[in-house]
Amino acid sequence: MKFTLKDTFVKELPADPILENEPRQVKNACFSYVTPKKTSNPKLLHVSPEMLAELGLDIGDSQSKEFLNTFTGNIVLPNTKPYAMCYGGYQFGHWAGQLGDGRAINLAQVKHNNKQWTLQLKGAGETPYSRTADGLAVLRSSVREYLCSEAMFHLGVPTTRALSLSLTGDQVLRDMLYDGNAGYENGAVICRVATSFLRFGSYQIFAARQDTKTLKTVVDYTIQNYFSHLGKPSKQVYLQFFEEVLDRTITMIVHWQRVGFVHGVMNTDNMSILGETIDYGPYGWLEGYDHGWTPNTTDNQHKRYRYGAQLDIGLWNLYQLANALFPIINEAEGLEAILKTYNEKTEEAYLHMMSAKLGLANALERDAELIYKLEEVLQLTETDMTLFFRKLADFSNDDIASEGFSIIKESFYSFDEINEAIKRPWITWFENYAVRLKEDSLSAEERKTAMNKTNPKYVLRNYMSQLAIDEADKGNYDLIDELFNLLKKPYDEQPEREKWFAKRPEWARNKVGCSMLSCSS
Ligand code: AMP
Ligand code: MG
Repeated sequence: MKFTLKDTFVKELPADPILENEPRQVKNACFSYVTPKKTSNPKLLHVSPEMLAELGLDIGDSQSKEFLNTFTGNIVLPNTKPYAMCYGGYQFGHWAGQLGDGRAINLAQVKHNNKQWTLQLKGAGETPYSRTADGLAVLRSSVREYLCSEAMFHLGVPTTRALSLSLTGDQVLRDMLYDGNAGYENGAVICRVATSFLRFGSYQIFAARQDTKTLKTVVDYTIQNYFSHLGKPSKQVYLQFFEEVLDRTITMIVHWQRVGFVHGVMNTDNMSILGETIDYGPYGWLEGYDHGWTPNTTDNQHKRYRYGAQLDIGLWNLYQLANALFPIINEAEGLEAILKTYNEKTEEAYLHMMSAKLGLANALERDAELIYKLEEVLQLTETDMTLFFRKLADFSNDDIASEGFSIIKESFYSFDEINEAIKRPWITWFENYAVRLKEDSLSAEERKTAMNKTNPKYVLRNYMSQLAIDEADKGNYDLIDELFNLLKKPYDEQPEREKWFAKRPEWARNKVGCSMLSCSS
């Protein structure tokens, strides 16, 4: 196992001079050196062959003792010094001060095939940023992040990746529901991989501390390493950088809306500067299409991060990033002008995405009405989003509206509820859809093919992860592998795995882990 190192982060950015690994405020520095905690009995549960290949490794490499020990924190790669990053963030709308990598430790930055990757362990022990927590992760949350990040990649959603999932052999104490009933759970570590783990909060922390020098250093570093096509850092380039972050953020969230993904904790420390989905915690997948749904019980009261609000929150977060960049630009107009484009860009991107879901060759402005009406009818009675869009592809130009209704009926959760008040608006919607399809250039067959490339057949439903976790807790890891493989081809028909193309079973409706998740991980 040999990596080509390209450790720009530690070479180009200021380090914390203090080496003590104790919770504290770290000033004027972007990271602190810290060694992962040794694990007592590590066991590799799964590796991503696709991620291995990206790093220039193969399955043989992943079976070595060296791989196991490196990616559970027991040894450090030659010529590297692991580190935790310093960042801050707005949590649920409030400035939370310094957060940082409290339980993530970056092993190294490596290069392969002209791509740069940061290898990071999550759950590898305390760092100066751990505050009052233990720096560890449990198996359930590690399985969820491992499976979901790779699944998102295969869905075509910008995301951080995962290389490996391991047990540490150590027990970790958690109060899963925050109700005073703490218990021991299996500890686990995943190796996450991303081009960069820089977040909005990586800039905010220095702006909040009025440390403009470090702020400029980290912005310049970001531009030189990840946005070098914009040219040498200057006032103008800072604005272009911000504009590109805004564009990437919109693209990412519109993808979330397309596949029915709800992040759950869109705090600014969880917003990647590269516009990649990052920090999979109490995320979830829509089963019933519902703008008001959030999987995160911690957010149950205000539902700030609900499905229907994700694009609005993106803008709120970008405002905070703009404030953080202000001290190195010193002029609000440019930033404001870019922020002003957000709503229009979002509407356009959303319209295009939804028209593609409907199988329209070209989005017309007036399709917004058809889409808006669809969102309304989808919420009349609990309707499975994934099933609905796959079934909709069977509606052909020549079908009459009532046939449309029969085609998608299977995606309703409660057939007893289907009365005239629900059926009538649906039929009206199908009448309008049929008229629109007749004007469109695609044949029924072409449309179906196109729709099935946009509307996934298989997503990581919340209960599916929970089944894999329950099995893993009993020592059986087969389901992790089955789901991992299923989700590699989310748009393909996989007849032998058809059982996963189904509505959420009733037992999972209110089960912890299936529909409700806390931040405890
Ligand atoms: P999250 O909402 O999971 O992104 O976490 C917010 C902050 O809490 C980040 O700074 C994390 O590093 C930190 N954090 C979460 N869980 C732990 C833990 N078990 N130990 C130490 N820090 C943690
Ligand atoms: Mg986080």
